[in-house]
Amino acid sequence: MNKLPIYVVGAGLGGVAAALGLARKGWQVKIIEEAPEVGVIGYGIQLGPNVFPMFRHLGVEEGVLKHAHFPPRVKMLDAITSEEIIGVDAGAAFRSRFKDPYVVIHRVDLHGVLLDAVRKMPNVEILPSTALASYENKDDHVVIKTADGRSFEAAAVIGSDGLGSAVRRQMVGEEKPRPIGYVAHRTIVPMDQVSKEVAVDDVILWGGPGFHIVQYPLRERSLFNIVAVFRTENIYERADEETYRQVLMKTYATAHPLMHEMLRTMDLKRRWVIADRDPIRNWVDGRVALLGDAAHATLQSFAQGACMAIEDAVVLADYMDGSKDDLHSAFKAYEKARYLRTARIVLESRSLWEFYHLGGIEAEVRNDACRAKTMDEIYQCLAWIYDGVKLPKAG
Ligand SMILES: Cc1cc2nc3c(=O)[nH]c(=O)nc-3n(C[C@H](O)[C@H](O)[C@H](O)COP(=O)(O)OP(=O)(O)OC[C@H]3O[C@@H](n4cnc5c(N)ncnc54)[C@H](O)[C@@H]3O)c2cc1C
Repeated sequence: MNKLPIYVVGAGLGGVAAALGLARKGWQVKIIEEAPEVGVIGYGIQLGPNVFPMFRHLGVEEGVLKHAHFPPRVKMLDAITSEEIIGVDAGAAFRSRFKDPYVVIHRVDLHGVLLDAVRKMPNVEILPSTALASYENKDDHVVIKTADGRSFEAAAVIGSDGLGSAVRRQMVGEEKPRPIGYVAHRTIVPMDQVSKEVAVDDVILWGGPGFHIVQYPLRERSLFNIVAVFRTENIYERADEETYRQVLMKTYATAHPLMHEMLRTMDLKRRWVIADRDPIRNWVDGRVALLGDAAHATLQSFAQGACMAIEDAVVLADYMDGSKDDLHSAFKAYEKARYLRTARIVLESRSLWEFYHLGGIEAEVRNDACRAKTMDEIYQCLAWIYDGVKLPKAG
């Protein structure tokens, strides 16, 4: 094995999972993260059953489950009429079909579980306030340069530096993320601020023409996570909370009163521009590989971006295990195993995004078609995601 460490660029969920996976296989790992602190901010996150075998592989399943809420149902409601369009029973039948649960969790808790596990590994070091600026492939190693002028030698580099990845920019060239004309506001409020009329146990997506809200509880139902997403003409507008509130009231004017109950509690300090990237086949340059959003940033329609990053991490660690020093071949095998699944997530997320945001007769047709679906048919539609992936070592 090359004596140099593997450098993981970015300590998001994908990067930390990759570091943990590699450290458990015996690699020396260094994580560089441009932020001064790791894993301190975040909102709720949904996790499909496909990611639980990955958590087992990383030895963190129990920790994740301890912080999780198990919604009885995951459903989509019509934002105007509140009619249930589609409802996935996430209880016993789901567990029996997919073997693992559907959960929601505070992102800080999930990150914390992964970070605690990483910090227990003597072969991982985290370097905060360290931003990769560029990399250079040499014959048998990689040299990385940081924004503040330091340089490090690595056996290989994993670019898990997210949507605006610097590793990807150098590897693939300058192609910007693809904004779709939507923005999001995210809020976590104490449960006692939530109207008693709002159903708080389930994961609910309210889909309306050009807008939606996603809601679910966190931390033993003491907190409520609300995400409001909508189309706007000026996605880059930076304004004060009052201006944002006026935009929101106008955009959601036709929305159901319960949605207004939730909008009332929203913290509107920050906006996120919603964007993805076109899928690509090549995630590898010599001894450098992309992972997570850096490789395949997706819209949130399936709530699978982080799940895919964690799947990437475990699959990559499995291919690298036993590869000795042929890391390029291990990276190419990983890329081959991952690019189609993740490209499908990206592309189908775009279609599902349209489906969520229909209005008028198109929405009526959608609702009518969905009404006829049985639970088995719904499970079958989700099976390509939730049945998960086989790890290479498992054959
Ligand atoms: C509104 C919203 C809701 C979502 N909901 C879900 C959900 O319910 N379920 C789900 O699975 N996914 C969800 N996602 C997607 C999910 O958040 C992402 O797919 C996931 O966080 C990607 O993880 P990552 O580690 O690849 O990247 P990131 O989490 O973006 O981490 C990248 C890290 O790299 C660091 N970094 C960046 N540049 C550099 C550099 N040059 N040098 C060093 N460090 C650098 C960053 O500071 C960051 O820490 C959602 C996304 C959004 C926007």
